[in-house]
Amino acid sequence: MRQNHRPNTEKTTPSWSIDPNEPGLVLFVPPMEPLACQLVAAVFRSIGFDARVMEENAHTLSIGLQHTGGGECVPCPSTTGALIHAMQESGCPPEKAVFFMPSSCGPCRLGQYARLDRLIFERLGWSAIRILSPASENSYYGLSTSVRSRIWHALLIADILRKMSMRIRPYERNAGETDRVIDRWMTRFEQAFADTTRPPLSRLLAAAVEDVAVIPVSPTAKPLVAVVGEIYVRSDPFINNGLCRRIEELGGEAALAPISEWVFYTNHLRSMELAGEPGSLAGGMKRLRLYLERRLLLERWEHHYYRIAAAVLHDRHEPSMAEVMVEGARHVPREFAGEAILTLGRAALFVKRDGARAVVNASPMFCMPGTITTSIFPKLEQELNVPILCNFYDGSGDGNQSLVPVMHYLCQSSSTASVRR
Ligand code: SF4
Repeated sequence: MRQNHRPNTEKTTPSWSIDPNEPGLVLFVPPMEPLACQLVAAVFRSIGFDARVMEENAHTLSIGLQHTGGGECVPCPSTTGALIHAMQESGCPPEKAVFFMPSSCGPCRLGQYARLDRLIFERLGWSAIRILSPASENSYYGLSTSVRSRIWHALLIADILRKMSMRIRPYERNAGETDRVIDRWMTRFEQAFADTTRPPLSRLLAAAVEDVAVIPVSPTAKPLVAVVGEIYVRSDPFINNGLCRRIEELGGEAALAPISEWVFYTNHLRSMELAGEPGSLAGGMKRLRLYLERRLLLERWEHHYYRIAAAVLHDRHEPSMAEVMVEGARHVPREFAGEAILTLGRAALFVKRDGARAVVNASPMFCMPGTITTSIFPKLEQELNVPILCNFYDGSGDGNQSLVPVMHYLCQSSSTASVRR
């Protein structure tokens, strides 16, 4: 089946191009993942925005639930509630507020969030709030190539800092040391990304890796547990009840699919879409642009930063998108746009390539790709011969109780362990 891969932008495509230096303008950034959101907000600050990562907790979620219908996947009420709370707390006038809300494509609801938010804001009398959903269809709202490139660097560095913390923390000899080191480097990177000059990111990352690599660790054997699924919920410790930390508390090492995966996937989708269009010079140029973007921006910098981080992450590199798609396409058609193919493909590679001894598929309640993958994972579980937990989260209760018996079993079995040396 052929899907429309383009984001739903007709209602959110602006007649405005953004001027970050407009006096009093505030850019509100959703708190999807603690490190990436801070660094992306810092990039926005470097071009003049007063960019703030919104607060997220049980109170902000309950605000979101009061303003939505109850059937939306939880990132929707969570981001909406965070924005309403931030508006109320900051006293920011609606005409000065910009809401950063990336959009999406395929059979998924993310493309509808901005539309629903628009209706909610109108009901609240806040129709002047601008929603920033940068995509090629709206010329990225005037955000320059250099800003988009810096956002890519911010996402990669956040992925690497998070991965380093998860690679070392389970084995640290002095409790809390890894978090302290990573926090210190986050402050440095935030300052660097907020700087208007070109920051020495490679040098900073090399120094951060050096600091992390010397954290004293015990060569304890621990099972590696992969976390895949819907990008917002798998990345957001508030919504997923601290899933990765819970795996660590229960005696494992967690490996989380990174945020950069989605960027590679959208590049891949767009290339697939163009490949299906009749040949023309303009189409050829678009394909060439996407190819160059992948090779010269996305892959080039990913490989560069992972090389710098090799002292800690030599065995935690990401597979290419082509490898993920090959694995995922064994279960759903490549043309079926959305996260299902990524979740299935990356889960298989975590087990076959990285040695994961269990997989957690984290999805929001009512998530469409999450429901599809949950129906397919029992078959994959048999093929891979590892436990696969499909956990749905709605921001209430302890969605991670199902980990307890699985982790107990894995920790008892000496053949299922990863060691940090
Ligand atoms: S992937 Fe799932 S949670 Fe995310 S927007 Fe789509 S349906 Fe909602």
